[in-house]
Amino acid sequence: MQCPTAMTGTPSIRALLEQARRDLATESARLDAEVLLAACLGKPRSYLHTWPERSIDQRELECFAQLLRRRARGEPVAHLTGEREFWSLPLAVTPDTLVPRPETETLVELALEKLPPESSLRVADLGTGSGAIALAIATERPRCEVIATDISEPALRVARQNAERLGLDNVRFIAGDWCESLPAGRFDAILSNPPYVAERDPHLDTGDVRFEPCRALAAGPEGMAALRQIARCAHIHLYEGGWLIMEHGYDQGAKVRLLLQAGGYVAISSHKDYAGLDRVTLGRYERQA
Ligand code: GLN
Repeated sequence: MQCPTAMTGTPSIRALLEQARRDLATESARLDAEVLLAACLGKPRSYLHTWPERSIDQRELECFAQLLRRRARGEPVAHLTGEREFWSLPLAVTPDTLVPRPETETLVELALEKLPPESSLRVADLGTGSGAIALAIATERPRCEVIATDISEPALRVARQNAERLGLDNVRFIAGDWCESLPAGRFDAILSNPPYVAERDPHLDTGDVRFEPCRALAAGPEGMAALRQIARCAHIHLYEGGWLIMEHGYDQGAKVRLLLQAGGYVAISSHKDYAGLDRVTLGRYERQA
């Protein structure tokens, strides 16, 4: 193997990363710069640490400069590289989908607790986006049938492509609003990470979320519109004893628990994400006598 050598007059990987970290000046600047440079070099991030003295050629330099400019404007790193890892699965993401977030893995963990490993159950993921939740469940529970819905056709195209790339054949994608397009027959679990930010939340005008699809983020004046709609329709599609598991904002746990109580759910509980914030609420549907 020929080792990459330093060329005179062109910057080294180390020098470039140092400069980019200073220029970006964000919390995640170091990581962002590494991910973007690795993408331009077509190498894994570990390569940058193995060959810090390697020089960068003109084409690579231009690629990096362009991605850094876009990152400085706020475009999410996942949109710039076209990929984000979720549940250790490499997922394609585009501006048509929400960028999968680590806190959503909390929902996957809770769902897996309710789905025994060798079970052949039916699971739905409402508003699947890039397919993150559906694909994580389909990978962990190969005998389960997973139905994933989204109102956005472009998002479903991304999700389908992700399922194909991962070679998963136990997930079906269907276009439609929340429960509207769910096929006949009942489900053992209905999962969702719906939009839950308040429509006028100033958070929507700052940082990376400006580049994500608004309807995947915001729902109604208090961010409760989609959560409420799902709580209203899910029970029609759940078996007796089936679980509804929803992600929500850090301050929406109490409201979601009330929704589930009013909807005839029992064993209701809220759970914290890795940052210690209330993030997921679940309940078991019991038909009234
Ligand atoms: N957690 C995301 C945010 O605050 C929102 C995700 C969602 O609405 N489902 O940016």
